[in-house]
Amino acid sequence: MKKVLFLFAIFALFVGCTKQCANKIEYSKPSKVKNVIFMIGDGMGLNQIYAGMTANGGTLNIERCTHIGLAKTYSASSYITDSAAGGTALATGNKTNNGMIGMNADSVAVKSILEMAEEAGLATGLVATVRITHATPAAFYAHQINRGMYEEIAVEMLTSGVDFFVGGGRNNFEVRNDSLNYSDSLRNANYNIVYSIDSVEAPVLLPFGVLSADEDMPKASERGDFLPNAVDLAIKSLDARGDGFFLMVEGSQIDYQSHGNDTEGVVNEVLDFDRAIRIALDFAERDGETLVVITADHETGGMTIMNGSYVDSTITAQFNTGGHTGTMVPIYSFGLHADKFTGIMENTEIPLRIKEILGL
Ligand SMILES: [Zn+2]
Repeated sequence: MKKVLFLFAIFALFVGCTKQCANKIEYSKPSKVKNVIFMIGDGMGLNQIYAGMTANGGTLNIERCTHIGLAKTYSASSYITDSAAGGTALATGNKTNNGMIGMNADSVAVKSILEMAEEAGLATGLVATVRITHATPAAFYAHQINRGMYEEIAVEMLTSGVDFFVGGGRNNFEVRNDSLNYSDSLRNANYNIVYSIDSVEAPVLLPFGVLSADEDMPKASERGDFLPNAVDLAIKSLDARGDGFFLMVEGSQIDYQSHGNDTEGVVNEVLDFDRAIRIALDFAERDGETLVVITADHETGGMTIMNGSYVDSTITAQFNTGGHTGTMVPIYSFGLHADKFTGIMENTEIPLRIKEILGL
C-alpha cells in the first residue's frame, strides 16, 4: 500500500510538472503575430532565384525560410497575369482583370491588407525600387481602373494613411498635368517628404516618405545598397512606434531584367533583393513576434537554367519570352505562423491568411 501511495505521489508530481512546463512554453512563445513583412519579387520565378543562388556560390539568405509553398498566379481576365492583377491578388485577396489596381473584376474598389492593418492601428509601410505609384506597391493603397493612371494613384497616397514609403515616382507627385504638388499636400498632412535615404538616421518619425527618383530607381548595379538600406530604415522606423506593423517590400526590377532576357541583370536584382531579405529575416529572428512571407506576382521571361557552377559562381540561362509566363511561383515563409503558407494555393489565399494571422 505504501508503495502504491509512493508511486501515486510520484505520478502526481510528474503530472503537475508537465502541466507547469506546458504553461511555461505557452508564455514564452507568443501566438499572436505583431509584425508582418510581406516581400514580393516582381517576376521572380524559381529559376530567377536559382540563378541568383548559383551565381552566389550556391546559397542565398532566402534559404533560411523554414516553410515553402506554391501559388497559382492567373488573373480573372487572363491565364497570364500582369503585375496589376497580380499585385491586387496579393494585396486584397481578389482575382481581378489585368491592368486593374485594388479593384475586383467588377471594377469595385476592394480593401488591401495594408489598409486593414492601418485601420487596426498598425504602422504601415511600402518599399519599392520602381516608382511608388507602380502596379505592385499601388495595389496596396490605390484603387484605379488602369495601372497607367500614375497621377491619380499618387493622389491616393494622401488619403491612404501609409505611414512610411520609399520608392521613385517624384514626377507623379510634383510634375503633373493638373500642376498640383502632392509632395506639398503630403507635407501639409504632416509627412516629412525627402528625396534620398542616404543621410536619414533610423528611426524616423512617422509619417515619412522618400521619393528617391523622378521615375524608377536605376538598376541594381547602379543603385548600391538602396533596397537593403530602405528596408532597414523601414523596419526600425515602423517598429519604433510600438503598435506592430505591416510592411510590403518589392524587389521590383527582377521583372525588368527578365523582360530584357538579361541573365546578369536578373542575378544582380535577385542578389539585391536577397540582401533585403536578410535584413527582414534577421529582424524576425531577433523579434520573435514577426512573420516574413516572400513570394512573386508571376514569373517573367520563361527563364531556363541551361548550365552553371557553384565553384565558379557562373550561370548560363535562356529565356522563352519577353513577357510573363503562367507558371506557379514559390512562397517562402519564416517566423511566427510560417507553417500556414505551405502547399499549393491561389495567390489570393496569401493575403487572406496574413489577414487571419494578424486578426484583421
Ligand atoms: Zn512585367
